[in-house]
Amino acid sequence: MAEKTIFKKIIDGEIPADLVYEDEQAIAFRDVNPQAPTHILIIPRKEIASIDDLTPEDEPLMGHLFLVAQKIAKQENLTDGYRTVINCGEGAGQTVFHLHVHLLGGRGLTWPPG
Ligand code: AMP
Repeated sequence: MAEKTIFKKIIDGEIPADLVYEDEQAIAFRDVNPQAPTHILIIPRKEIASIDDLTPEDEPLMGHLFLVAQKIAKQENLTDGYRTVINCGEGAGQTVFHLHVHLLGGRGLTWPPG
């Protein structure tokens, strides 16, 4: 069997994380290397490596991840705006192959991102 990703180990409680939200479908925790005052990762409990691996049955799950992002943005009081990012593939900077939504806020965010 393939090696578990670090995020699967967090889901399984094998390594600690600073959890900010969890439900039946998703968990969210603070990024260990934050790029903004609020930098949270929202991940599905289901193991999906990247956007490229989504199937039609994942459509509601993906919508759910963004409703979780909205909820956490409110919890974190990101009233001046926030950004969600999903890196897909190594060329886009994806380093953990368990799909995740970055939620960034708490500072001014420029565009385009690097
Ligand atoms: P990506 O580059 O889009 O794959 O994002 C992976 C993110 O996971 C990076 O921002 C890392 O800082 C973060 N990360 C890696 N390991 C952990 C961990 N154990 N707990 C929290 N965040 C992590």
